[in-house]
Amino acid sequence: MANVSFKNVHKRFGTYVALEKLDLDIHDGEFVALLGPSGCGKSTTLRMLAGLDFPTSGEIMIGDRLVNDLAPGKRDIAMVFQSYALYPHMTVAENIAYPLKKRGIKGKAREEAVQKAAELLQLDAFLHRKPKELSGGQQQRVALGRALVREPQVFLLDEPLSNLDAKLRSYMRAELIELHRRLGKTMVYVTHDQLEAMTMANRIAVMHGGLVQQFDTPDTIYNRPANRFVAGFIGTPPMNQIDGAVDGGDFVIAGHRVPIDRTTFVASLKDGAAVLGVRPEFVSIGTGDGLPATVRLAENTGHETIVTLELPDHSRISARVEAGRRLDVGQPVALRFQSDAIHLFEATENGARL
Ligand code: ATP
Repeated sequence: MANVSFKNVHKRFGTYVALEKLDLDIHDGEFVALLGPSGCGKSTTLRMLAGLDFPTSGEIMIGDRLVNDLAPGKRDIAMVFQSYALYPHMTVAENIAYPLKKRGIKGKAREEAVQKAAELLQLDAFLHRKPKELSGGQQQRVALGRALVREPQVFLLDEPLSNLDAKLRSYMRAELIELHRRLGKTMVYVTHDQLEAMTMANRIAVMHGGLVQQFDTPDTIYNRPANRFVAGFIGTPPMNQIDGAVDGGDFVIAGHRVPIDRTTFVASLKDGAAVLGVRPEFVSIGTGDGLPATVRLAENTGHETIVTLELPDHSRISARVEAGRRLDVGQPVALRFQSDAIHLFEATENGARL
């Protein structure tokens, strides 16, 4: 079994707290993404799992083994880095074979393992080339191949696609999903790209300020964000967050009342300052009754239009409407929020778990 768990893990660099009370239970065979902005602690988490860094306190388990003090080579893991780290003077076949060579595996066994990895990653035709004769995506596949031949229990991937162009990234995303499906191995994947996390992972740990803000399925992270940080980090554009106050079951924005469906996403309906969250796809733009707003920008992406709207308090929100809908800058409109899609958050300063 290759479940992975962090139990009450703290990590300090000198006096700087990089990770605070990290608790994560990753199931055997699961694809988990560690997602968050720069400096949130995701690479440190992965490096501690790899044995390249050590926790200040707490326990890290792989399967039923406590690995805190175990050398990287004894952990039964393989790591793929953003930089690929291929040996330039070796051929593709030699690069892939390298971990086996180091382990003293020779002859036919080594050749067969390389062949199997090359077939799985469609590298058969490139085995005799040097890394510089390959595209970025092919090089990344060689790095994956080198991880595959080790047949580890757990794969650790640190932003493996970030050096690729957009088209290749989307191709490799699909490849990695397929690879995970075929291998069924535990994979822990560090990224700051929400699209990668949302499309590839079974579960996402959203991190910020050395703390896991939410650890859940992509669907739950998107539809039921645990706090304002998660709501504002996920989605393009992200969830709108509007300052106002709860008053007698309504939400009041600059003197205008918005009815709230009490049954959904509403943690507390206590009167007082709060933040209303609504995704751009649940904001409808019309005339007549509704929250008054002014159109400030309409961006047609081809399959939809993203509209920036100014509210009476001069804050701005976005709406997602059908492509080609005619909206003029400066035009007054009336907004409605789908009442069962409204979230209500406490009006804490940056909205994250601190
Ligand atoms: P990025 O996406 O930029 O790589 P990250 O989320 O992976 O960010 P980490 O590399 O885990 O972030 O770093 C977490 C915090 O710990 C950062 O504030 C970083 O500056 C700090 N840190 C990391 N390694 C060290 C170190 N060796 N010494 C001191 N501080 C460190």
